[in-house]
Formats: sequence, C-alpha cells, structure tokens
Amino acid sequence: MPELPEVETVRRGLDKLIVGKQIVAVDCLCEKSLPIATADVNKIIVGATILAVRRRAKMLMIDLSGNYTLLIHLKMTGQMVYRGEANWGAGHPNDSFLGNLPDRSTRVIIRLSGDNTLFFNDQRKFGWIKLYPTTEIDDLPTMRKLGPEPLIGDPWPEFIRRVRRHPRLSIKATILDQTTIAGVGNIYADESLWLAKIHPATKVEQLSDDDLKRLLDGIKKSMADSLAAGGSTARNYVKADGTRGDYLDKFAAVYNRANQPCLRCGHDIAKIRVAGRGTQYCPNCQMLQ
Ligand SMILES: [Zn+2]
Repeated sequence: MPELPEVETVRRGLDKLIVGKQIVAVDCLCEKSLPIATADVNKIIVGATILAVRRRAKMLMIDLSGNYTLLIHLKMTGQMVYRGEANWGAGHPNDSFLGNLPDRSTRVIIRLSGDNTLFFNDQRKFGWIKLYPTTEIDDLPTMRKLGPEPLIGDPWPEFIRRVRRHPRLSIKATILDQTTIAGVGNIYADESLWLAKIHPATKVEQLSDDDLKRLLDGIKKSMADSLAAGGSTARNYVKADGTRGDYLDKFAAVYNRANQPCLRCGHDIAKIRVAGRGTQYCPNCQMLQ
C-alpha cells in the first residue's frame, strides 16, 4: 500500500516529467478508475496543459489549465508509469514497472504531447482519478478534516492538539487516524512507535508530551528516511543482483521483521494486533506502561 513517502515519490517524479506537457488524449479502460463523464474528459481534460503536481496526505493533485484539477488516490495497488522520453514508474511495486504497457492492470492511459504516455495501473481497482474545479479542492470534506502534513512546516502544535482529543484510544489507532496527522499508514505507524520506544497499544492519556514529541520526530524520521531511499520506484524495484527488492528493506526496523532481532536490543520483534491491524514491535524496547 503506497503511504505518504511513496506518494511523495510519485509526485516528485511526475513533477519532473509531466509539468508543461499537454494532454492530447485520455483512454479510459475502467470506468470505476476514472469516474468522470466522457463529455467532461473530452471538453476539460483533453487539450489542457499540466501546470503543477501537488500532494496532500496520500492524495495527488494534477493542476490543469482551465482551472481544473485531477485528484488521484492510489489506494492499495495504484501506480503511475511514464513511458516516452523517460521510462519511470512509482507507487505500488510490481512487474508492471518493467513490462509492456498497457497490461492487465492498466486502467487509464493519458497521452501527452511529445509522444509521451502516462499509465495509471491498479490491479485491485480501489484507486481513482476524479476531476474538480481547482478552487474546490481545499474545501472537499476529506481534505478539510486532514491533520497536519508531517514533513511540511512545524506540525507539532496541531499534532499534539489533535492527539489529545483521544485520551482513551491506543496511540497506534490515534496516529492512523488521518484527522490526527496526514499520511501515516500501518508501516510508518509501527516504525515511528519503535523509534519512540512506545508500545502501540498504550492509551494516549498515559503518554507525556515528551513521549508524543519523540513519536512525531519518529514519524518525520521514518518518512524522511524512506524518501531518501527513493520510495518504491521502478529504479529501486530491481536490485543490482536482478532480484525483485523491497525498498523498505533499506530502512525498516520492524516492518516485515517479526521473529527477527530488534536492531536496538536484539530481542525478537513480535507481531500482535492493535487497532485491527497487524502490528510489529519490540516487546523489550516498547514496554506497555
Ligand atoms: Zn528492542
């Protein structure tokens, strides 16, 4: 599942490749993935020039000339692959990064000026591309409720205010809630709780402001480390030895490491359920208070 750093990796790639290009055609292979009337596709999207690629939480926004914006959510298995003057892909990592496109996972094909093509692939079809007037994006209910961005500005004042709204809730459930902080999914929740030495099931009321400060620092660090490792892009998907790799291997301390030794103390990493999600943590470093 692409999380904030993966979506930011998609944004950075698209920002370099598609801004300034004109959309010359849009082929919709799955209506669910592009819930936009064909007349609007032809009238508003086709012929528009791409002005900017932005991100809020795990959503991407492609601003078009004519004051419209494509709002994109990759959900579980969405990816963007660019073919033409560059070969690039990012998002959910799988072999569609490498093979001939379109393939069975291709849902939308956006043809761009200069004989370039952007493929929206999404095996499980939970992702989508929607169209809104640019001025309406910030007022959408899902946008208005979102907590602060972890990697932009100083999220601490908003973060602490929003965390304290849930004194009886587990800290993991609280940070997975997108109204507390934007973009934290299961992987970065577990990584940041390990960095902060907090048991995932601890109730918020049992945590001090210092604990929560360490946790926010952990969220920022794990996401920054992931971005520095390049996120899940086609370039990182195949390792030097030709095997398919998971870029998370480079920095993850607990994700996918159940029964392996804690990188800090050597105790085995355990797997439990918290907030309805598979949760990996170190029972020695992250004691329940
Ligand atoms: Zn440990």
